[in-house]
Amino acid sequence: MTQPRAFSLRHKLLIAGLGAIILLVSLLAAPTSPALTQAVPVAEAEAESVTASNTGHPENATSPAHQDEQRDEQPDDNTLARTVQPGDTLSEIFQSGNVPLSDLRQIIKADTEYLDLETLRPGTELTLAFDPDGNFSALELRLDPARKVAYTKQSDGSFEYRKYEADTRWVSEVIRGRITGSFYASAVRSGLTRAQVLLIDQLLGSKLDFSRDLRVGDTFSVMVGHELIGPDSTGNTRLDAIALNRRNTTLYAFRFDDGNYYDENGESVSPAFLRWPTSKRYRVSSPFNRNRLHPVTGRRRPHNGVDLATPIGTPVLSTGDGIVRRVGNHPYAGKYIDIDHGGSHTTRYLHLSKVLVSTGAQIRRGQQIARSGNTGRSTGPHLHFEFHIKGRPVNPLTANIPTAASVPAAEAARFAEKAEQQMAVMRHAASRSELLLSEAPSLFE
Ligand SMILES: [Zn+2]
Repeated sequence: MTQPRAFSLRHKLLIAGLGAIILLVSLLAAPTSPALTQAVPVAEAEAESVTASNTGHPENATSPAHQDEQRDEQPDDNTLARTVQPGDTLSEIFQSGNVPLSDLRQIIKADTEYLDLETLRPGTELTLAFDPDGNFSALELRLDPARKVAYTKQSDGSFEYRKYEADTRWVSEVIRGRITGSFYASAVRSGLTRAQVLLIDQLLGSKLDFSRDLRVGDTFSVMVGHELIGPDSTGNTRLDAIALNRRNTTLYAFRFDDGNYYDENGESVSPAFLRWPTSKRYRVSSPFNRNRLHPVTGRRRPHNGVDLATPIGTPVLSTGDGIVRRVGNHPYAGKYIDIDHGGSHTTRYLHLSKVLVSTGAQIRRGQQIARSGNTGRSTGPHLHFEFHIKGRPVNPLTANIPTAASVPAAEAARFAEKAEQQMAVMRHAASRSELLLSEAPSLFE
């Protein structure tokens, strides 16, 4: 999926300005609006280690002034920062830092439950750290400007994984468009990404036929949220609200705090999920357990999914509509698939024998995407299945998955208030293109 990685200064200012005004509207309308505090959640287990000041940006550590002052007190400043270049492999990077490949193998093993190393691409920043004796001690990986992970060597030679997340905030812009051909082409022309258009199709597809029911001249407004850290984009976006205006009616979808989408009456429009990734239920051979302890070391070694005792070749079904985000082959996780279900949900399927889809493919709920297997480092044939909500793994067999339900009664008033604000913003806020034409953006008439 391609998403904007960075914004021009002008974009930043415009987005910040828009965000400030939207936040101001929220403030005026609802002092406790969750939009103000809706930073990406940080797992409790990781929260204590997360502050903006101790994330140790390598550029600070290597600035000459800093080194001159503190050279003697900072023996652990021994780091090697690298930006991944096209064609680079991790083993080449480790070899160029004289790091034993046995350490890399241990790191890959520690990454099995996360697969963050699989996201390495040109431009990714990573840091190799060494102890005062010059022995390799840690690998740090910057996932985006707000998130990094570290693999730190333990006394037994294994590596411990930790994730660090800085506080971020979301600001919204409004993208407007007019149907002049297909909805897809019109929406992409207005500035929406392919993934965003497909999500709109999923959310409103049950209420209209996009190829038949739209006419030239129908319009749409979409609030797109951008995640920021300081003035910088993290590259993460989301759809906050959608309005599709046909001749006499407007169809809406609003993203609520639970990550699900609802119409203006609070009825769910998120496509429902299947609970199981197989057509029949198999025995659970290993349950989901975020706090599983290693039997020997006693260290936390989470099991972020559920293992189902599927014989090799069992059809594996996508539990929801979505887009294939990643197909990979990991030394420990084996052949695997990640599916992005839009909004806040992703699923992951490991140890497959055969993958039947490719990255970027659009998938329907219940579609066969693979056959189960025993690939990677696996103790026997099984399917490891994960379900993530807002980036956090949850128990797929018990999690609160989107079903055809409405906003809980206790939240109904807050939902209605937020939806009304978003309707007003979509109606009145200047769109991105209008903003770009205007030196001093005036967002409301
Ligand atoms: Zn498993």
